[in-house]
Amino acid sequence: MKTINLGGSKYTPVVERVKELHRKYKNSSIETIVLKDDGSTVTVKAIVKIGNRTFTGHSSARYTKEKFGDVAMENAETSSVGRAIGFANIGLMDSIAVSNPESPNKEETIHVCEGCGDPISEQIKNFSKKLFKKSLCRKCQTNKKSKCKK
Ligand SMILES: [Zn+2]
Repeated sequence: MKTINLGGSKYTPVVERVKELHRKYKNSSIETIVLKDDGSTVTVKAIVKIGNRTFTGHSSARYTKEKFGDVAMENAETSSVGRAIGFANIGLMDSIAVSNPESPNKEETIHVCEGCGDPISEQIKNFSKKLFKKSLCRKCQTNKKSKCKK
């Protein structure tokens, strides 16, 4: 599984955990339930089933005017899935964050390439958005330049 280094600790992006879950267990499923959405905070519960074992993860996010604030629901959902899969022992355990005051929601800082699903940094994402109007990794950016169509 791919990991990325976030502030000194290794981190397995949610997308990688999901891939690993499906690769390892054919009999797995992921379900998410919105427990609360009052317009200011959204709380999502994820239920990951592997055979007859069940793992749950919860995550809350706040709607704000700041960066990521308008995608609180998506962030909470991704984080809860990441946590549930983490509890199933997929992905690195230190990524099941005990919340870090500097970055309470680590999953929020991860971006994913729209082309191939690889994790990309904030910097690459912003660069790509400007140039291609899409979040693309370097490799997909290069492909875009040469082909100019999807
Ligand atoms: Zn890509």
